[in-house]
Amino acid sequence: MLVVQKYGGTSVGSIERMQKVAERCLATARQGHQVAVVVSAMSGETNRLLDLTRQLHDDPNDREVDVIVSTGEQVSVGLVALAIRKAGGKARSFLGHQCKIVTDSSFARARIVSIDGQPIRDALAAGEIAVIAGFQGVDESGNITTLGRGGSDTTGVAIAAALKADVCEIYTDVDGVYTTDPRDVPNARKIDRISYEEMLELASLGAKVLQIRSVEMGMRHGVPIHVRSSFSDAQGTWVVPEETDMEKVVVAGVTVAKDESKIICEDLPDTSGVAGKLFAPLAEQNISVDMIVQNQAYDGTTDLTFTVPRGDRKRAVDILKASVPDLVGKNGERIQSDDEIAKVSVVGVGMRSHAGVAKTMFQLLANENINIQLISTSEIKISCVIARKYAELAVRALHDGFGLSLPPSERTGL
Ligand code: ADP
Ligand code: ASP
Ligand code: MG
Repeated sequence: MLVVQKYGGTSVGSIERMQKVAERCLATARQGHQVAVVVSAMSGETNRLLDLTRQLHDDPNDREVDVIVSTGEQVSVGLVALAIRKAGGKARSFLGHQCKIVTDSSFARARIVSIDGQPIRDALAAGEIAVIAGFQGVDESGNITTLGRGGSDTTGVAIAAALKADVCEIYTDVDGVYTTDPRDVPNARKIDRISYEEMLELASLGAKVLQIRSVEMGMRHGVPIHVRSSFSDAQGTWVVPEETDMEKVVVAGVTVAKDESKIICEDLPDTSGVAGKLFAPLAEQNISVDMIVQNQAYDGTTDLTFTVPRGDRKRAVDILKASVPDLVGKNGERIQSDDEIAKVSVVGVGMRSHAGVAKTMFQLLANENINIQLISTSEIKISCVIARKYAELAVRALHDGFGLSLPPSERTGL
């Protein structure tokens, strides 16, 4: 078999941890497998590097930031390759440009365009363990790029796809994907198998255990992903195509996202073209809008509420004031915004065939006297925006209310 193993920051967080990684890689190789390893920066290192750039400049140039933050992974690959050699194995390190992980030029959030797996295949054919830097790539002009926070997951799955590996193992500091973040809810339960679709929703709605793009990539190329702990040998969670018995679970998991803000535009004229006029300048300035709710009043006006990433809230309001003063007022008199929100969501493919999940969710929140500000649904998820101070309470209420701490077979009713 050809196995890709990705180790996250905590898993390579110290020399001792790297020695453990080296042992695991060698044990896998000894079982007769070819091993390609993708590593993250040591834990805390990417934050430290980002902090250095901000000490120097409050709006640092993206290209230079990528040159700086990509170095965390350069140190890790060298050290892990050395650790494997020290333990008696053969290893060769690769930076993104050396195994030609070509990306577009969107610094800090670049997308992988292609990977030339040949240098890695050559190393494997020579009996070496290939140790590849996660998170980084190179654009067509030779600039160093990075793939966004948590991007080493995507490097791992992309390398697995390029090499047609049998599995991509994601080693992290929890032993799998849980029904909700086990750090916040101690009775969260490990999920044995989850579909790509559900994992995609969980990841995009706040579960940072896998970067969203890594799940997209796994789904597109059919790479089985095994999320597991580098601290134990226990089986983790398999992320795989949907299987029939998965339908028995109505709600697979609960997530919370605390990084959005709400913007309300009041007293807009209730005529055609208004929403288009409002959102066009935001889209042009690359602000991604998430939930949108519009409500008509009886007096011919309408209120429009939407959410944006918190870091973009101020810019979004400024753009609206400048580009549509006729709608929102020259000084933004008709705009209100709120940073103190959180989005809680329940996710599960079983919702497709089950009515009543939304009703139960609303009741569970009401039981805790939590007011719902915005709601959005898709076939397999329901999200509610609430006041941020209730986020933890809401997650626990939903997790317990849907019986997620119980084994799937013991979860009764809705
Ligand atoms: P790594 O450095 O290995 O990439 P991350 O910190 O990016 O690790 O991701 C692992 C973390 O994801 C866990 O420590 C956990 O707190 C968090 N997490 C959030 N939601 C979930 C979930 N549903 N299941 C498991 N872990 C989760
Ligand atoms: N080191 C990068 C980060 O901290 C990438 C990763 O760890 O996946 O975001
Ligand atoms: Mg991560």
